[in-house]
Amino acid sequence: MKSVFFAVLTVTLLTAGLSASGRSMEVYDIDVEGGKCLLVVSPSGESLLYDLGWPGYEGRDTRRIVAAAKAAGLKQIDYLVVSHYDLDHMGDVPALVASFPVQHLIDHGPLETSGKGAEERYRKYAAMFGGIDHLVVKAGDKLPIRGIDVTVITAAGKWIDKPLPGAGQPNPLCATTPDKPNRPEDLEDNMSIGLLFTFGRFRMLDLADFEWDYDHKLMCPNNPVGTVDVYQVSIHGQDKGVSPVLAQALHARVALMGNGPTKGGAPGTFETLKAAPGLEDIWQLHSSLNGDKEHNPPERFIANVEGPKDFSYWLKLSATEDGAFTIRNSRTGVTKVYRRR
Ligand SMILES: [Zn+2]
Repeated sequence: MKSVFFAVLTVTLLTAGLSASGRSMEVYDIDVEGGKCLLVVSPSGESLLYDLGWPGYEGRDTRRIVAAAKAAGLKQIDYLVVSHYDLDHMGDVPALVASFPVQHLIDHGPLETSGKGAEERYRKYAAMFGGIDHLVVKAGDKLPIRGIDVTVITAAGKWIDKPLPGAGQPNPLCATTPDKPNRPEDLEDNMSIGLLFTFGRFRMLDLADFEWDYDHKLMCPNNPVGTVDVYQVSIHGQDKGVSPVLAQALHARVALMGNGPTKGGAPGTFETLKAAPGLEDIWQLHSSLNGDKEHNPPERFIANVEGPKDFSYWLKLSATEDGAFTIRNSRTGVTKVYRRR
């Protein structure tokens, strides 16, 4: 009898230990050569793919997404969020759906901008709405994924109209940072669905391709978002998208940048991020040829350094409810731990 009791107790403890260590939110920053592609796996097992990189290149980015999804142990993508309809984000939705099951499509609504081939791209995408559940979201909505909280901060050129709980303090950077007018040809960038991911005390903000002018609209005069642990740097780290009123007001511990070798990773952005209070590290998907050695992080924080083309490494973030997180560079195999603050 005694031995049965101990056996049951041991199994219970083992199970508890496993489930406790398994409760993490995982994020794969997938290298799509200067496009955007984030795969988020909730502790519930549900998944969210946030953009798909580029179309073409013989299906390169679709292959990279499927490889990451399989590495994450997924059988399907539960929610595919198309942040906006630019080429480097929208990828090839029909090709992905043909390669890997997708349950729900989420976007900011009908195409309102034009140019850069957007109409044809959107037409092919919208043709899929009959076969796959389709959801349009607006700022302030929450995505239905279970196990984590995902709040829509921006969508369709609009932003949350009231501060999140605990946020809303004046943003002093507004007085010292000049605004820059938005370029009309970049309108679709500012239609981006921007998301705040919260898991317990852990918070990560990603505004996709939101640009400088819209950073000011969102973050001035008061900061409605508050602070975060991780800032996924807007618009691949191009200068037109990273105003101090956002990048420095967030007080992020880590900035993660989805740049390409020659896209984004601007020296000005690097300096803005370096000057942000509380910033511990900048991680990049590529070493940036736009910046010299002083405007790139040390190589251990870079997933893809110059070398053979088409060798794609990702950065993998794992966060726990207490706010601690780790980042693993899949090129070096080295993981850095960010302990709970
Ligand atoms: Zn982009």
